[in-house]
Amino acid sequence: MNKKDLTNLKKFLIQKKTEFLNKTNNGQRELKNDLDVTIGDEIDTATQNSEKEMFFELAANDRITLNAINDALVKIEKGGYGLCESCNRAIILQRLNAIPWTRYCIKCQEEVENFKE
Ligand SMILES: [Zn+2]
Repeated sequence: MNKKDLTNLKKFLIQKKTEFLNKTNNGQRELKNDLDVTIGDEIDTATQNSEKEMFFELAANDRITLNAINDALVKIEKGGYGLCESCNRAIILQRLNAIPWTRYCIKCQEEVENFKE
């Protein structure tokens, strides 16, 4: 995966996250633009608190996706993004472009889904 792909995926993730948070009442307030913020740098407490409030307004399914989005954004900053959490192999770009917050490669995803049934 090259830098351009990664930047596009990051933008997609942040856009998606904003969409989720905008669904909430608290999210109607102006959201801080994450695009220029490096994760791990100064994140002010007020922003973190309101994000937490917004999080609990979301439906359970949305929370699961939002968690995955946040984890993906952390991995983009800290490394390990695009690797399957189960088998540690690279997830194909085509899959990441469709679901950039996915945690598993197609093979492991199928196994996870079969396990649930
Ligand atoms: Zn895998």
